[in-house]
Amino acid sequence: MTANVCGKKMNVVGSDGFHRMNFLYQASVVMLNAVPSCPSISSFYGTNIVSIGKKLQLKLDPSLKRTMCKGCKGLLIPGKTAEVRIQKPLTSKKKKKRQKKNNKIQVWKCLLCECVKNYILKSDYILWSEHTVPTM
Ligand SMILES: [Zn+2]
Repeated sequence: MTANVCGKKMNVVGSDGFHRMNFLYQASVVMLNAVPSCPSISSFYGTNIVSIGKKLQLKLDPSLKRTMCKGCKGLLIPGKTAEVRIQKPLTSKKKKKRQKKNNKIQVWKCLLCECVKNYILKSDYILWSEHTVPTM
């Protein structure tokens, strides 16, 4: 239950699940900072976050999802648990067709499971959650 502008209590679908996922994410950050030598603890919390999201059909905010590894579900912090590189645009003809413009690619590599995430860097790209006026 959350309070709206009028102060009345209202039910939000999946509110309990969001609270649990938020708590686990914060616990993951705290444990990674408290015990940096053991990133698998953060991975454990991340796995729980994903399983709660699947069970209750809730989506993580894209800004949080981008900080989690696809493989081990641990937190990706540049320099601590992840290696971040900027790659030049792809050169082969097939790959050039897939990548329409010559945008650079940001490559995040998890140091725990070596899983790789790629993000195409576009100068004018804004995440839908970062838009000031949501479009639906
Ligand atoms: Zn990983």
